[in-house]
Amino acid sequence: MHDNRQLVEGRLARFNDERVTPAVYQAFAPVTITAWTVPDEPVPFADAVRQKYSPIDIGTAWGKPWGTMWIHATGSIPKEWLDSRGRLPRGLATELLVDPGFTGGPGFNAEGLVFRPDGSTVKAISPYNAYVPVDHRQPLDVYIEAAANPDIGISGFRPTALGDKATAGDGPIYKLARVQFALRNTVVWELQQDIAVLGGLMHALPVDLPRRHEILRAFERMLDIVDPEDVAGTAAAGRAALADAFAKPAYASAHNLIAVGHAHIDSAWLWPIRETIRKCARTFSNMVDLMDRYPDFTFACSSAQQFAWIKEHYPELFTRIKAKVRAGQFIPVGSMWVEADTNMPGGEAMARQFVAGKRFFLDEFGLDTLEAWLPDSFGYSAALPQIVKSAGADYFLTQKISWNQTNRMPHHTFAWEGIDGTRVFTHFPPVDKYNSELHANDLAHAQSNYREQGVGTVSLIPFGYGDGGGGATREMLAVTERVRSLEGSPTMELGTPIDFFRRAEAEYPTPPVWSGELYLEIHRGTYTTQANTKQGNRRSEHLLREAELWAATASVRSGVEYPYAELEEIWHLVLLQQFHDILPGSSIAWVHHDAERNYTAIAGRLEKVIAAALAALSGKGSGRGRKALTFNAGPYERDGVAGLGAGIAEAADEVVPQKYRRGYVLDNGVIRAVISAKGLITSLTDYATGREAIAPGTVGNLLQLHRDIPNQWDAWDIDEFYRRNVTDLTTVESLSVDGDEVVVERVFGTSRITQRLRLAAGSAALEIVNDIDWQESQKLLKLAFPVDVHADRSASETQFGHVFRPTHSNTSWDVAKFEICAHRWVHVGEPGYGVAVANDSTYGHDIGRRTRDDGGTTTTIRLSLLRAPHYPDPTADLGHHVLRVSISPGASIADAVAEGYRMNLRPRTVRGTESSVEPLVRVSNPAVVVEAVKLAEDRSGDVIVRMYESRGGKAEAMLTAGFDYSSVECTDLLERTTDGPVTVGAEGAITLRLRPFQLVTLRFAT
Ligand SMILES: [Zn+2]
Repeated sequence: MHDNRQLVEGRLARFNDERVTPAVYQAFAPVTITAWTVPDEPVPFADAVRQKYSPIDIGTAWGKPWGTMWIHATGSIPKEWLDSRGRLPRGLATELLVDPGFTGGPGFNAEGLVFRPDGSTVKAISPYNAYVPVDHRQPLDVYIEAAANPDIGISGFRPTALGDKATAGDGPIYKLARVQFALRNTVVWELQQDIAVLGGLMHALPVDLPRRHEILRAFERMLDIVDPEDVAGTAAAGRAALADAFAKPAYASAHNLIAVGHAHIDSAWLWPIRETIRKCARTFSNMVDLMDRYPDFTFACSSAQQFAWIKEHYPELFTRIKAKVRAGQFIPVGSMWVEADTNMPGGEAMARQFVAGKRFFLDEFGLDTLEAWLPDSFGYSAALPQIVKSAGADYFLTQKISWNQTNRMPHHTFAWEGIDGTRVFTHFPPVDKYNSELHANDLAHAQSNYREQGVGTVSLIPFGYGDGGGGATREMLAVTERVRSLEGSPTMELGTPIDFFRRAEAEYPTPPVWSGELYLEIHRGTYTTQANTKQGNRRSEHLLREAELWAATASVRSGVEYPYAELEEIWHLVLLQQFHDILPGSSIAWVHHDAERNYTAIAGRLEKVIAAALAALSGKGSGRGRKALTFNAGPYERDGVAGLGAGIAEAADEVVPQKYRRGYVLDNGVIRAVISAKGLITSLTDYATGREAIAPGTVGNLLQLHRDIPNQWDAWDIDEFYRRNVTDLTTVESLSVDGDEVVVERVFGTSRITQRLRLAAGSAALEIVNDIDWQESQKLLKLAFPVDVHADRSASETQFGHVFRPTHSNTSWDVAKFEICAHRWVHVGEPGYGVAVANDSTYGHDIGRRTRDDGGTTTTIRLSLLRAPHYPDPTADLGHHVLRVSISPGASIADAVAEGYRMNLRPRTVRGTESSVEPLVRVSNPAVVVEAVKLAEDRSGDVIVRMYESRGGKAEAMLTAGFDYSSVECTDLLERTTDGPVTVGAEGAITLRLRPFQLVTLRFAT
C-alpha cells in the first residue's frame, strides 16, 4: 500500500489539539471570589480565615515575590448542568479550575493550597494539576492560599535578585487568570488519555515494526468515527475503535517496570525552608486525594523531616497521611532525616541521618524502613554501604550518577561495596530521572537503557512532578492503567520500592559489584560553594560531639540531667541543613542566610550545654583551691590530658619565629619550616626523617587564583578548564611577626588575605590561619602545597575512614576526579614517609602529580578555599572568612587522623576544684577511634559509645569503661542489639576485634 503514515500522524495531532482537548471541559460558570493579601510571611489558616476579604477581579495583578494571597471562592453549580432531579448526568464531573497566573511548570511557579472552611485541606493547585473536585450537591465554599513564588530561572542561570526577600522587590509578579466552575466530560478525558498513551507508544516505536502501523491504523479508524462537531457524543465510539490496539499484551520478554508515585521535594533550594513546608502540604494533600480515588496508587515519600513538618503544621493532613500509610499507599522511604548530601557530612552526622529518620518512621508509623533513597544527591561516599547496613537497611537507590559528564556507569542493579567491604544491594532506575511523567519515551528509555538485560528483567520508575513538589497526577495514573501489559511497551505495575527490591534481588541474587565511591562527574563546586554554610556544618558537628560527650560524662559522674530534648532538636536542625542543596551551597541567598543564622544559634545553644556539663565536672568551689582544668574532647591525649577526659595541661613554650635570610624560620625540634620574604614556605622538614617535604623548585603555602566560569550550574560546577587560567598570589603587602606567628598580608583584586603561620610546641603540624576579605567575582581560590612525594593515590577522610583516589589520569574515570571531596584531612605518601594536610572548614581539594626534570615526582595538594559563583545566589561567598589549614611533613595516615581531630576540637580550660576527669572509656589501640559518646536515644540512661577502625587494617583493642555498668552489648546505629566484634572476658575486660574501617556501637546498661 502507499505510505501515508506521516499524513495520518499529522491528522491525529491536529484533531487531538483542536477537537479533543477543547472538548474535555464542555461548560464553565463563574464563582464569587474575594481576597486578602498577607502583609508579610505566611499565616496559618486559622488566622487567614478571620481576615477581611475584598472583591477581586480576574485579571488583577497580585503577589509580590514570596507574597501570599488568600482567595475565598463561593458559589453553586449551575442548575442547567444537572438533570431534573438535581443529579449530574453520567460521564460528567464538576470541578473548580484555578489558575493564579502560571508562567511555567510545576514547582517553580505560583502554586496554591485549597482549604475547606473547617481548615482541612482539599488539594493543591499547580500547573498541569489545577482542578479541585466539587460536589455538585453542596454550595462551594473554599479558601485558596496562593503563593507568589517567583521563578528563579533555572534554565538560564542568570544572576537574580529574586532569591532574597530583601532584594526581590515588591511589585506583583502574577495576574489572576481563572477561578471558575467547569464541567468535565470524563469520556472525552479518557479518550484524550488513550491518545496520549497509544500515540506516545506509536512514536516511540521504530517505523519498521508492524506494531507501530497497527496503532496508526487504529487511530485512523478512531479519527473517522469521532465527529469533530460532536466529540462528546462520539468519544465512546472512538475509544471502542482503539480497544483492539490496547488489548494486545506485552511481548513475553518485555522489560518490567515497577512504578512508584513520587514527588522529589527539595527541602530548600530555589525557595526557603518555610516554603518547603507549604510545598509538602500541597503535594501530600494532592497525593492523599488521589489515593482516595485510585486505591492501587502508591506514593513513596522520603525525608522524616517533611513528615515532621506536616505533623507540626498540618495535623489534620498528617492524620489522613497516617491512615494512608496504614493502608499501604503512602510509603515512607529512605530511612533518613532528609535526603542529605553524602560527600560532606561527618561520620556521626551521617549515622544520625539514619538514626533520626528511622526513629521517626518507627515511632510514628511502626515502620522499619529498609532502603536508603537518595535519587538526587551529588555523589555517594564510599562509607555509605556500611552506614546503611548498620542502620538496619538493606537497599540503596539513586539515579544521579546518570548525570555524569564523562563516564557511563556499567550497572543499573548491582552490589555496592564500601571501604570496609560491606555490600548493599543497589539500583539506579534506568529511566534516568526521579520525576518521570510516564511518557512513552521514558518507558522506552528505561527498557533500552537498562544495563542488566538478559539477566535482570525489572526496574523501578519513580513518577510525579518533583524538585519543587507536585507529585503524581490523574493523567499519570491513566498511563499506569493502560500500559500494564501493552504490546511494544515495557509492562508496568504500581508497587513499592520494597516490592521492587525484593523482586530484583530474587531474580539477580549475585549482581556485579561496584567498589568504592559513586563519584558524580559533575557538580564538583558543591564541595566549596557557600563557605559559611560548610564551616557552620563542620563547627556544629564538632560542638555536638563535645556537647554529647561532656553531657554524658556529667550525667554518669555527677548525676546531671542529660539534655535529651535540646540535643535532639539541635541534631534535627544540623541534619536538615545537610540537605543536598543546603550544605552543597546550591540554594538561593535566603536559604544560606537562614543556614548561617541557624548555625550561630546552634553554636550558642551547644556552648551552653557544654558549659553546664564542664561546670558540673570541674567542681564548683571558689577561691584559692580552684585549678585550671583542661577538657580534651578529642580521641587522643593532648598536652598530657587524656582523650575524652580532663586534667591539668602541661605548659608549653611558645615557638617564636626567628629571622632567617630575608624571611623567618619556625622550629620546634619536631619540624622546621622556612618562610621566605614573600611569605611562602621554601622548606619544610621533620626531624624524625630529616627529609624535605617541599618539592625542588616549588614553594608551599601558595595561594592561586583561578578564573571560575562554568558553562552552566554556577554554584554547582567547577569545569575542568578552570585550570587554564591561574594567577599565583606571590606579591606580599607585608611580612611580620606577631607573638609566635609569622603574619603575611596580601592584596589581590579587591580582596585581602592575612595569613598567620604558627608552630605549637611539640606539634608536627604547621598551622596556617587564613583571614580573608573575599570580594571576587567568579574566581576560585586555591591553597597549594607541592610536595616531594611519589604517590599513585591520595587518601581523603570520609565518614568513619578514608577513601583512596588516583593522583594520575590514566583512564577517563581518573581524569574526571579532578576535584575531590575530603573531610578533615588528606594524605599522600610513600612507604615510610608522607605528608598530611588538614583543615577546619574546607572540603574541596585537588591532588595531582608531575614528573620533574630530575626524575622525581612532585605531588601537589591543593585546597579549594573559596568560590564566587553568581547563580542562584549572586553574592555567594562574598565577605569575611577565617579558614584554618595545617601541613604535617613526615606524617602517616594515623598522624593525619589525629591531626584532623586536633584541628577541629580545641581543648577547653575551666577553673574548678577538680584536678582531673577520668574518661568514660579508654581504648588501648589508637587505630580504634571513639567517634561518639552519648546517652541512649531511648532515654534509658544507657551509655552509647561509637567507634571505628581508622587506618584501614585489622585492629584489636581493649576497651576500659571508667564507670559502673551492668552489661555491655553491640548494637546497630539505632541502638538495637546485634552481633558484633566484641567479647567480654571474665573480669569484664572488653576486647574489640575490628576489620578495616569497621564501625561498632556499644551499649552499656547502667
Ligand atoms: Zn533534589
